[in-house]
Amino acid sequence: DRRDGLGVYTADPYAYDRVLFNNENAVIIQDMFPKSSVHLLVLPKSKRNVLHPFKAFEDPQLLADIKLEVERAKQMVASELRRKYGQFSKSEQARIRARDADDPPDVLPVGRDWMKEIITGIHAVPSMNHLHVHVMSRDMVNDCLTRSAHYNSFQTSFLVPLEKFPLPEDDPVRQIGYGPWHTVDLVCWRCKKNFSNKVTKLKAHLVEEHDQWKRE
Ligand code: 5GP
Ligand code: ZN
Repeated sequence: DRRDGLGVYTADPYAYDRVLFNNENAVIIQDMFPKSSVHLLVLPKSKRNVLHPFKAFEDPQLLADIKLEVERAKQMVASELRRKYGQFSKSEQARIRARDADDPPDVLPVGRDWMKEIITGIHAVPSMNHLHVHVMSRDMVNDCLTRSAHYNSFQTSFLVPLEKFPLPEDDPVRQIGYGPWHTVDLVCWRCKKNFSNKVTKLKAHLVEEHDQWKRE
């Protein structure tokens, strides 16, 4: 079954170049169809990893273990963003260039905090059977993003943060799969401009936003 495609990575981590990290709790892999410029998945090794996430994360130990690995994956995404787009913001670069070499500042500029540019979470209704947490840059620029649902699945409450777990019995997120999340308007994550259902227009706009964002 195509929906079982993520099982191989925890079963045989050393067989796949996409596996970036492996320990007793989880593997961290590259998403095969990334929806942002950097998009990783954390795959728990627990036997509970074939349960629906709402059920799986009723186990406090699993939840605690995976939060640690998600933090690790965030660090990995942040260093990749730093590698791709640089350490310093535009204004900081200008300051470094402008400063007098004979009179360096006492305090060096702080590098850009790429950890703030990362989104994480679990889809309320996953398409793949094995438990996985998305850890990705927030830009949503990638050729693999072709449909409105791809975008909205990460930009609406369909993406459930780990902090929500264990999920209360009456949490409305439990019903979200049957709600209208995938038909809501496409709204730019950065400037909030509304693109209705025009995914091609949104994508062109996201490329412009990405260009600004990476040099912020
Ligand atoms: P879901 O919608 O289930 O939360 O997301 C599943 C994710 O797995 C998607 O982002 C999709 O691109 C990714 N994916 C699907 N099949 C494979 C695969 O065989 N290998 C990898 N590395 N990622 C996959
Ligand atoms: Zn915008």
